[in-house]
Amino acid sequence: MSLSDYKGGSLLGEDLVNSVPEIKQYANVNVEQVVNVGSQDISPAHWTKLANRINAIFAHEPKVAGVVVTHGTATLEETAYFLNLTVKHDRPVVLVGAQRPATAISADGPLNLVNAIRTAGSPAARGMGTLVVMNDEINCARDVTKSNTYRVETFRSGELGFLGYVDPDQVSFYRTPTKRHTVRSEFDIDASGTFPQVEIVYSYVQPDVAMIRMLHEKGVKGIVFAGSGAGIISQVEKDAVKEILSSPPESRPIIVRSNRTGNGRVIARKDFDVLEMIPADNLSPQKARILLMLALTKTTDPADIKRMFAEY
Ligand code: ASP
Repeated sequence: MSLSDYKGGSLLGEDLVNSVPEIKQYANVNVEQVVNVGSQDISPAHWTKLANRINAIFAHEPKVAGVVVTHGTATLEETAYFLNLTVKHDRPVVLVGAQRPATAISADGPLNLVNAIRTAGSPAARGMGTLVVMNDEINCARDVTKSNTYRVETFRSGELGFLGYVDPDQVSFYRTPTKRHTVRSEFDIDASGTFPQVEIVYSYVQPDVAMIRMLHEKGVKGIVFAGSGAGIISQVEKDAVKEILSSPPESRPIIVRSNRTGNGRVIARKDFDVLEMIPADNLSPQKARILLMLALTKTTDPADIKRMFAEY
């Protein structure tokens, strides 16, 4: 009955679907077990396997209306954004999780799963990109983030809000994501599951910049700052970025400025432009990292990467 102690991954996808007979009222569901790990242990290789499998299903099975991915909530938004940029079809992919364990009182997983399946089967969800359905609300992959450790209303899209409701009578959309995704995405992935290394550096009062130097020495291809305020960094961090800029071009990572506030855009500004730092618009640091990883599979041209951060 515990609401906090449980072992993730104990139930297989087949068990989850079989435990909710109401699903049969809405859809014929084929279950595939692609990965079975706690979401804190998801890797880009798992993302790749999932994206390639979903692309294959959509390419070869015209009768499939949509795909639902059950996922731990810790990193669900990261997998969702990766799929948003790498699934190349307009049929919906819906990620769903649960805040309460399946064995807990008032478990939320069964209703979330039914609602995710209803959304994946809804013609209205076509062309919306990857979606996250939890707590009767439909969020777009780009904007949604886990905002609370234990509350069932944890998945929020910040000030921009969610896209729609899943109510007992129907699935209702009120907004459309405008940024590029799925069929309008330029990113292709191969089967290798490996990507240029991009790490995140969190900004705070008086940081030790040894971490920045270490990442540079290690040869990472990208660094995303989770900057404070409007996506800014301190003078010591700027000095560390200057050191990187003075190194040979082939060893210089692309550096992106996002922000740690959770809302609002990071915009170009002279003192950071001279350091060749690319603004991440309103992407969270963890989503800016995913976009940079994919961008670096295409180009190392800062101007082109800047364009991508404006478009995705
Ligand atoms: N089950 C969670 C997840 O996969 C992680 C946890 O809280 O143990 O995201």
